[in-house]
Amino acid sequence: MSDFSTASERLQAKARARQSARRERDIVTLGIALAAIILFISTAGVALPMMVRALQGTSAAPDLVLTNALLLNIALILLGWNRYKALTAELKRRCASEEEARRLADSDHLTGCLNRRSLTIALADLLAERMERERALAVIALDLDNFKQINDLNGHMAGDEVLQCTARRIAALLPEDGLLARLGGDEFLCVVPYHPQMQDRIDQLASRVIENVASPVKHEGMSLDVTISVGIASSKHLTQPTEGTASAQKLMHKADIAMYHAKKHGKNRYYWFEVSMENELRFRNELETGIRKGIANGEFKPYYEQQVDLETGKLSGFEMLARWESPELGVVGPDIFIPIAEEIGVIGELSERLIAQAFEDAKLWAHEISLSVNISPVQMRDPWFAQKLLKLLVKHNFPASRLDVEITESCLHENVGMVRSMITSLRNQGVHISLDDFGTGYSSLSQLRTLPFDRLKIDRTFISELGSEADTGKLVDAIVSMGDGLNLPITAEGVENEQVLEALKSMGKLKGQGYHYGKPEPAEKVLERLAALDLLADAAADNVTEIEFGARPTPRPGGDARVG
Ligand code: C2E
Ligand code: CA
Ligand code: CA
Repeated sequence: MSDFSTASERLQAKARARQSARRERDIVTLGIALAAIILFISTAGVALPMMVRALQGTSAAPDLVLTNALLLNIALILLGWNRYKALTAELKRRCASEEEARRLADSDHLTGCLNRRSLTIALADLLAERMERERALAVIALDLDNFKQINDLNGHMAGDEVLQCTARRIAALLPEDGLLARLGGDEFLCVVPYHPQMQDRIDQLASRVIENVASPVKHEGMSLDVTISVGIASSKHLTQPTEGTASAQKLMHKADIAMYHAKKHGKNRYYWFEVSMENELRFRNELETGIRKGIANGEFKPYYEQQVDLETGKLSGFEMLARWESPELGVVGPDIFIPIAEEIGVIGELSERLIAQAFEDAKLWAHEISLSVNISPVQMRDPWFAQKLLKLLVKHNFPASRLDVEITESCLHENVGMVRSMITSLRNQGVHISLDDFGTGYSSLSQLRTLPFDRLKIDRTFISELGSEADTGKLVDAIVSMGDGLNLPITAEGVENEQVLEALKSMGKLKGQGYHYGKPEPAEKVLERLAALDLLADAAADNVTEIEFGARPTPRPGGDARVG
């Protein structure tokens, strides 16, 4: 047993001893006061008339002993009265502080809402009552979407203000018999009774909560934008109500699953719980475990997609695209596992392993063949990212000038300052930087002008429709001209056929990639392709390779090979 628990037990024992001593004293005082009253009645009955008569001069003064006994009686009664008054005052004080302690234990100190414990008990009581009263209960789980960012960027005071304001806004919309609790962090939970036939009232409530929470919160001259995701479970979903708080907890869990579903489907919205969501969540949990295990077991493999000079048809490099060769699920694409890896915080480790493998693979290719890698916005938030990447280059003895890092537009509006310094330190070492998926995000002309990119990659949604009915030719043409104006070379993604290729060729000197040249393929296939083109690294040249650090990015050496 720890020192702390023995010390606290000693303190509790002392307090108990003090209390019992006081109780004994109170009983003695009460006994004395009672005896004094009985004595008073008997002595005053004799002594008082004698005193009155003595004052009137009709009789002698009462006996001295009797008078003293009477005075002593009066003193004792006064003492008892005093003690009684002190006791009632103390009782009142104790009741008030017990009430306050209970209030504090039941509520959340920051927002004044109920807390998890008290809400669970209240919900359990309401559920038991509901059985008798034909009413349904909506349990509404609410979770702010971008609270961590607000806290990180604006400080905890701003975060507290957002939480308090959110609580006030939700409370203002709840009906009188509704309950609101903060469960911890940025999680809230409401319980609202409703008539089972009037579910639309809960829909309206959820919509209004989402709308009101989304209006900016003012704090010290700043305007903070938050949104909230909401999940709702109805007590109608409870098949077998159970004793105690088990049913309440089950319902809260279902609301949580629905809220999680709302997060997955774009946030800032609400969903009612459905059984299928539970299966989805189970699958998602399996994916999470699978990804963690897969990283440890080396199940994630770099695949490579050709990048080609459109005019000459020569192969100039490969973009590494990750694949998960899962023993249970088969080959899984990055659109499935990258968002999960980002969310569970393993994207950095996963990406490092893939890039390290890609360096080893690319060392077997001719030196003029470049390697592009994709970097997640989550990795760009790591202030050490550039250092980590440079360290990896050194460790694998891979020339910085052969590496192209692709970052998406969404990185830019998170923290442009940090992205700029990262790009600068990578470029200073000779790494090239491309802006990926251009046209799908919000990068401004001024960002394009001031951020030192080496290349723009036009998103495939603009390219694959070229030459078709929904012709996006003018738009692509405009982007190509803009690239010319900004001195930014351009790569077109998603070149799927000859028609698209011809349309692009007429627009300027571009690079391109897409299924027209082949799908992403594993390292062995790349080696076969390069061997056929006589583009494998020369073993002799390999031995004298030195890392080209410190060089400003320069156009890569020519000698591209025509794709066969
Ligand atoms: P992305 O960087 O835009 O990669 C191009 C995607 O387009 C690839 O999908 C590729 O297979 C697909 N694609 C290529 N040519 C064509 C075409 O002609 N038509 C069509 N319809 N699609 C084409 P993939 O491999 O599924 O990758 C999806 C996204 O996942 C990538 O988009 C990239 O953003 C991300 N990703 C892939 N590997 C990694 C990685 O290692 N780290 C990070 N952070 N993201 C990665
Ligand atoms: Ca890319
Ligand atoms: Ca892309």
